[in-house]
Amino acid sequence: MKHVNNDSNQSTDRDHADDLVARVRSVRDGEATTTDRLERMLSRIDDVNPGLNAFREVLREDARRHADSIDTRLAAGENPGPLAGAIVAVKDNLCTTEGRTTCSSKMLEHYRSPFEATAILRLRKAGATIIGKTNLDEFAMGSSSENCAWGPVRNPHGVDRVPGGSSGGSAAAVAADCADVALGSDTGGSIRQPAAFCGCVGFKPTYGRISRYGLVAFGSSLDQIGPISRSVRDASLLYEVMAGVDPHDATTSEMPVESPLSDGPLHLEGLRVGIPREHVTDENHPGVTDRFNETLDALRNAGVKIVDVDLPLTHHGISTYYVIAPAEASSNLSRYDGIRYGHRAEAIPGEGLEALYARTRSEGFGPEVRRRILLGTYVLSAGYYDAYYTRALKVRRLIKQEFDGVFAQCDVLLGPTTPAPAFRLDADLDPVSMYLNDVYTVNANIAGIPAISIPGGIAEDDGDALPVGLHLQAPAFAEPLLLRTASALETMRSKA
Ligand code: GLN
Repeated sequence: MKHVNNDSNQSTDRDHADDLVARVRSVRDGEATTTDRLERMLSRIDDVNPGLNAFREVLREDARRHADSIDTRLAAGENPGPLAGAIVAVKDNLCTTEGRTTCSSKMLEHYRSPFEATAILRLRKAGATIIGKTNLDEFAMGSSSENCAWGPVRNPHGVDRVPGGSSGGSAAAVAADCADVALGSDTGGSIRQPAAFCGCVGFKPTYGRISRYGLVAFGSSLDQIGPISRSVRDASLLYEVMAGVDPHDATTSEMPVESPLSDGPLHLEGLRVGIPREHVTDENHPGVTDRFNETLDALRNAGVKIVDVDLPLTHHGISTYYVIAPAEASSNLSRYDGIRYGHRAEAIPGEGLEALYARTRSEGFGPEVRRRILLGTYVLSAGYYDAYYTRALKVRRLIKQEFDGVFAQCDVLLGPTTPAPAFRLDADLDPVSMYLNDVYTVNANIAGIPAISIPGGIAEDDGDALPVGLHLQAPAFAEPLLLRTASALETMRSKA
């Protein structure tokens, strides 16, 4: 198997001594400078990005200026914040005033945002240096990072494999050590699935925990920003910095944001871990099944109470999602008409406005985005609205209730993140098989609950050694329980 380089392969079960928390500590302690760390990563990007295509744009000069100001402040004895020294990559559907925000779409090829996403502003205020914008499936629609207007992203664990999607560039950037941590967005699994495929931690908080202001909208009732990182404590730190109420996003929660890991590691003994029967089926890849069963054995030995639970609506999640998400997307994407902003087709004299809109949108959007807009417009149209959209909202309610029932029987849910490890770029999956990648992740978005994927070992597939993920879900706003459990599981696995 072809590797970008050997050390990216060792990144699967991360050594905590080298995570973001350890790295920023070394800067605070004067053992390293932000500038040195940034320059190392910039040259790493020069080396590996031509093969990976993980970055849409590297914000070289802006990052250099920022890193220098952090080092100057540190040298003056100031405290620039908990992320001083951190080098962060952000998905290119998050608005930054530096560089462009393209969403990997021809439609936004030249778009420069006049404002910055709240999540990124908060990272900067905490001292983080933003190194660049990462590649994604166009407008975050996809599970493989192949739906990109400027070529697919490749997986650092095997460059003929996909990195997952849609935050594939962010996951590949972290796995290849081109950033300490990266931001992704998750509408149906787009943080967790690429994290699983690339051997990283990927965390989607409760809906409304992190402001969506400045995140280019896809499915507004499902979208959530979150970190892709090397460890659970890194994810927790980023969450703590970004979460909290924001006047620019009316859906942000007023609930106070805790320090999720401040109570120390969770004792696994006595914890009730629910295993959804529908997530551990014969249809999973044998490597996924084997690694999952090993984890279960280790948990039993650690005194965890394993509870078999049923989530019979699991498979209805995909159909529900593919009504709600395209419906919202068709409305959100109607703003790209080529008149107000975005790509505009060459006007033909005498042509009406409608025709110009149509040509603009056919030229600007790729095939998957067009498919979603058509689907969404169809399910919202008069005569079909009740049959599809209203019905999907009813199933959404049932899925929420199903989770409520299950969380009365157990504290957290555990399953594999995906049915199989990363597939090949040339797998040429039909849309429905592609959509099934998210079968275990999508219901967390539908119900709005927090979920995390952590590295769950290596599966053998066709001669390649590929990472697989463990997926934990918890009740809404139970981030401390979720992250403490994930951290304990991560520690247990690193000792195994
Ligand atoms: N793969 C799903 C889709 O294509 C989810 C994408 C996401 O979470 N942004 O819509």
